[in-house]
Amino acid sequence: MRIDKLLANVGFGTRKEVKKLLKTGVVIADGTVVKDAKTQVDPENQQITVNGEPVVYKEFVYLMMNKPAGYLSATEDDYQETVIDLLEMEDAVLQPFPVGRLDKDTEGLLLLTNDGQLSHQLLSPKKHVPKTYYATILGEVTEEDINAFKQGVELDDGYVTKPARLEILAAGNQSTIHVTITEGKFHQVKRMFEAVGKKVTYLQRISMGPLTLDEAELRLGEYRELTEEEVEALR
Ligand code: URA
Repeated sequence: MRIDKLLANVGFGTRKEVKKLLKTGVVIADGTVVKDAKTQVDPENQQITVNGEPVVYKEFVYLMMNKPAGYLSATEDDYQETVIDLLEMEDAVLQPFPVGRLDKDTEGLLLLTNDGQLSHQLLSPKKHVPKTYYATILGEVTEEDINAFKQGVELDDGYVTKPARLEILAAGNQSTIHVTITEGKFHQVKRMFEAVGKKVTYLQRISMGPLTLDEAELRLGEYRELTEEEVEALR
């Protein structure tokens, strides 16, 4: 790949900025100073340094974010902030995108990656990747609701959901629950509760397949790279 593309990809600025950097003679590939932006390099087999620091090249990035309310699960929007606005430049340059969507007011686990193949696999309806949510519900959640979710409930458009596991954490006028679904219909959890006459007042995703939200490490709006084990578990 071209040296200017590589350096831009790993966060040394725009192609124009990288061109200027190259001119200063601080970029070295296998002992030779590289000044021409068009120079072809092989980051996996060549030792490339900038100011003596090795350039660590990675093709793919996998990020776990604790999404806050108020951000769209999208890569760009003309008017509203997206989860990409929460990323540091060095991560944003790798162009990750959210794997699936959380509503603007939903918080919690959001995976971002530029690995299209993995994203496709995780979102494939055939895969039935389980997603677990914590929610607060206006209204008393009952055993009947547990059974209805187990059977599948009919949404406002007539679609009948696949079996979902509902667990009541606390029941009352305000209830708290965990629910696990294996699909990703638009506003699914909110619409499932509407189907049983209740309203979701807070929604947080806490797990997706083998990934669990790292609440010990991540405050709202923070993110971290997945460990190698976490990436492997997703495959
Ligand atoms: N279900 C919803 O209703 N909203 C989400 O953001 C995710 C699942």
